[in-house]
Amino acid sequence: MLPPFRIGHGFDIHRLVEGRACVLGGVTIPHSHGLDGHSDADCLTHALADALLGSMALPDIGHAFPPSEPKWKGMDSQEILRHAAHEVRSRGYDIANVDISIIAEAPKIAPHISAMRTVLSNTLSIPPDCVGIKATTNEKLGAIGNREGICAHAVCLVYRDDTV
Ligand SMILES: [Zn+2]
Repeated sequence: MLPPFRIGHGFDIHRLVEGRACVLGGVTIPHSHGLDGHSDADCLTHALADALLGSMALPDIGHAFPPSEPKWKGMDSQEILRHAAHEVRSRGYDIANVDISIIAEAPKIAPHISAMRTVLSNTLSIPPDCVGIKATTNEKLGAIGNREGICAHAVCLVYRDDTV
């Protein structure tokens, strides 16, 4: 029998480079640098998508959206997240809540959290108060502290949709 609840965890990190838009949680943040990657490199959204896939014990997003595939170049990561939510729902589960920690020395994340929660709740079709986002710095330690990149951790709780 399928368990009534499952959890998922995801982690992602991308390098900050010049000449790229800085997209986090589906929101473009004004900054001198942006995240490098094949898609829009939205590490917050990638960590969250991996958490959802992880809750179903599925392989990570690189499996469904391989960086070697030219058609995913520059893609909106909300599309990846929508795919991950569909994978959960097609297996008889729904999303209770998600919680994300983003670790960045710069840019300042806090002013954009409300907009990110709106975007993610729309993509996932869950209420904004079920989307937690917290931002912290790395206290100037290591590569993240040196503004070389941004990383994000995400967890989710899903429940069997025949239990409600
Ligand atoms: Zn990524």
